[in-house]
Amino acid sequence: MSYYLQKIKRYKRHFICVDCRKGFKKSNEKDFAEKNGELSLLLNAFYFSKPKKKLSKKEKDALKLKYFERVEDCPQCNQKMKEVSMSFKAPAKNKLKEWKELMKK
Ligand SMILES: [Zn+2]
Repeated sequence: MSYYLQKIKRYKRHFICVDCRKGFKKSNEKDFAEKNGELSLLLNAFYFSKPKKKLSKKEKDALKLKYFERVEDCPQCNQKMKEVSMSFKAPAKNKLKEWKELMKK
């Protein structure tokens, strides 16, 4: 089994829901692709310097949209969440002023 396909602990993507005033961690694109059985396809398209299979631009764009520009819905209210950096720390739920600032972004 190749190095890339081994089970390794992957980072999570971080999202916030400004309506619920909560932060959520979501699996990253590789975990998501693995679940869909498309991990090798994704790795082939974006991570290998010499892809085994050449994908068309259309196929690549579809994968990009599916895995990298994926919008996560809030697990509580189903609204679209905002993606934040991994170092971002969501304010406490009662810090209304800070959440208001985040809403503007
Ligand atoms: Zn929410």
